[in-house]
Amino acid sequence: MSAPLTDRIRLHEHYFRPFLSREQLEVRVKELGMALHDQLAGANPCFVVMLKGAFVFAADLVRASRLEGEVCFVRTSSYSGTNTVGEVKLLIPPEAELVRGKDIVLIEDIIDSGYTMKAFLPILQQLEPRSITLVTLLHKPDAQRVEVPIDLIGFTIPTKFVVGYGLDYDGLGRNLPAIYQLDESY
Ligand code: 5GP
Ligand code: MG
Ligand code: MG
Repeated sequence: MSAPLTDRIRLHEHYFRPFLSREQLEVRVKELGMALHDQLAGANPCFVVMLKGAFVFAADLVRASRLEGEVCFVRTSSYSGTNTVGEVKLLIPPEAELVRGKDIVLIEDIIDSGYTMKAFLPILQQLEPRSITLVTLLHKPDAQRVEVPIDLIGFTIPTKFVVGYGLDYDGLGRNLPAIYQLDESY
């Protein structure tokens, strides 16, 4: 049985407290879907999903948008632990033929420093899409270091680590139906 949402959870050595409930997520993702539907009315977009973290959000958002379109998956990894800033390694690149000439809905789980998107957007633009609409479920404005043109934001949140609904802590927590925030009092 799954734990009630009022409960703290433990992943590895850390505790996390409930932050965004599954009901809050459901309501907001439906709103984002309707906003996309209106903004891209009549278009057959290509949904570009940033793996791994955005896979749960994207599954709900694609259905909520009621837009008919291809889906493609991209995976980047940042050069963390080096001095390189604003560079990403493309582990799974976008499919050029699905992107070219298309209206892209770029789906991200969270924009933190902004470095990932800052580095990835030019890669996507090189494939000459017709337009790019960037949607992120979560945004940490106080952590942002570089400008990123975000079109739709689910929730603006403080600079604290969160997990669940696709987001992990060192491989755990992606399956949680709600979003939890690191509890630093432990
Ligand atoms: P950015 O490049 O904007 O700093 O961060 C992008 C990536 O960092 C996100 O896609 C995500 O993988 C990771 N990230 C940033 N903040 C968090 C967080 O609070 N929780 C989790 N699970 N991942 C985060
Ligand atoms: Mg991400
Ligand atoms: Mg992660």
